Amino acid sequence: MAQVGAKPPKKEFVNGEGFLLLGKTYRLQITAESAEYVELRDKLYVSEGALPFIGRLLPQWYRNQAAKKISERCTWYAKKTGYEPRSIRITNARKRWGSCGSKRTLNFSWRLVLAPLEIIDYVIVHELVHLEQPNHSKLFWNKLRSILPDYEKRKKWLKDNERLLEIY
Ligand SMILES: [Zn+2]
Repeated sequence: MAQVGAKPPKKEFVNGEGFLLLGKTYRLQITAESAEYVELRDKLYVSEGALPFIGRLLPQWYRNQAAKKISERCTWYAKKTGYEPRSIRITNARKRWGSCGSKRTLNFSWRLVLAPLEIIDYVIVHELVHLEQPNHSKLFWNKLRSILPDYEKRKKWLKDNERLLEIY
C-alpha cells in the first residue's frame, strides 16, 4: 500500500505513466507521429525519437512551461499588489520553491509548475511580499494574509505534497 507522502515510483517512460502539470495528471503516450518531441494535448505525447534524450528534454519542457506560467502569474500579482520584482529567474532547485534575491530578483523552481495553480500563486505572492518584508515577521504574514486569506491551507498543501513535485 502506498504511504501518504511517499515518493512516487521511478518513471520508466512507458505508455500510461502519469506526469503532473498544474496539479493535473497527464498520461504518457509515446508516438511515432508527433512533430514535436514533447507535446501536451489530452495526454503527454513524447515522440519515439526523443526517448533516448528524455532525461534532458522533459525537464527542459517543464522549465519552459514554468517560465510561461510563473511570469504570467507574477505579472498579474505584481499589478494587484504593487510589489514589482526587477526580474524573475527559473531555477533547478529541489524543494526551494522560491526565493528573493538581492536586487529584487525573484527565483522560482521549475518543479513548481507540477503543483496546482493556487499553490504556485502562494509561492509567487510569498516572494513578492518579501520584496517589502525580507523576514518572516508578523508583518510579513499579515501582508500575505491580506492578499491570500487562505494562504495557510496552500502552505500546508505544499509541505504535505512536496515529494510529488518531481518528474522522476
Ligand atoms: Zn519566505
